[in-house]
Amino acid sequence: MKERLDHFMARANAAYYATHDPFADFTTAPEISQVFGESLGLWAAVTWRLLGAPAPVAFVEAGPGRGTLMVDALRAITRAVPDFRMAVRIHLIETSPRLRAAQRERIGDAVWHDAIDTVPDGPMILLGNEFLDALPIRQFVRRGGGWNERLVGPAGVIEESSGFDPAVEAADGDVVERCEPAEALSANLAARLLRHGSAALFLDYGPETSAAGDSLQAIRGGQPADPFGPPGTADLTAHVDFTRFGAAARVVGAQVHGPIPQGLFLARLGLFQRTNQLARHLEPRQAAAMMEGARRLAEPDRMGRLFKAIALVSPGCDTPPGFE
Ligand code: SAH
Repeated sequence: MKERLDHFMARANAAYYATHDPFADFTTAPEISQVFGESLGLWAAVTWRLLGAPAPVAFVEAGPGRGTLMVDALRAITRAVPDFRMAVRIHLIETSPRLRAAQRERIGDAVWHDAIDTVPDGPMILLGNEFLDALPIRQFVRRGGGWNERLVGPAGVIEESSGFDPAVEAADGDVVERCEPAEALSANLAARLLRHGSAALFLDYGPETSAAGDSLQAIRGGQPADPFGPPGTADLTAHVDFTRFGAAARVVGAQVHGPIPQGLFLARLGLFQRTNQLARHLEPRQAAAMMEGARRLAEPDRMGRLFKAIALVSPGCDTPPGFE
């Protein structure tokens, strides 16, 4: 019995997200600071205006986790841009029944989907934080002038020719990754935003340009672990290939902005000003914790540089905030 890596990763992550509280194992940006979700909510509102303020508009989140980003975003837009709040219909793309239940407790008036396909066609603003990194990848290894695919067998990884040629230059032994669901999602979103004024924003980690190398990683109980341990016991992720993700939308005709470092993006959206404002009303210890959260998201040697922001927008739309 051997299995393609993407099939193994899909199965392992489905089991993991269905049975674990992932947030016991790792922390994501929305859980670090409320200003993250608030800033993305305001990004969505400003971008909605750039698109001509279509109403109604689908406000979609891919992989909402605990729902924190959406809750923070809605709080900010209710206060600052009530006409956007009035116009939005919330759609959440989430496959984990366990996380859906958690989201339902915090966001009542939403419609849940397994994938983008069932989100109604029409104007849309989509947000996705650490969603793309969870999508299953394939890996290919350069061997003797050809390519082998990495498969998962009972005793670990094996290599076999599968006829797939990633068509890139590589040295013997180099590993090249492909995330087919991410590229398909990018093309699907691009087709939608050609039909209706729409935008999608993703924040995730990965290098600025495609890089050869094995980026598959597993976190079990908060610690790095063997990705090929028992499926469902660890969170499996891989670096996002922003070059290929952007190109898949660009060939369809979408405008692509970024990737740019998350720290720069958040700073331009006013992360520190907003954090300072909030901190002024807090006890010194809470205020210090809030400032520390903002620095963790933005500082280059922490999450500010490895994480990137990329936006896909309808052709003809002005540059969305943070990418100017
Ligand atoms: N955005 C949240 C959660 C990130 S974890 C945060 O930043 O905290 C990844 C999320 O994507 C989880 O909600 C997980 O259940 C969901 N997910 C993973 N793979 C998915 C898939 N193929 N389809 C839909 N949702 C998926």
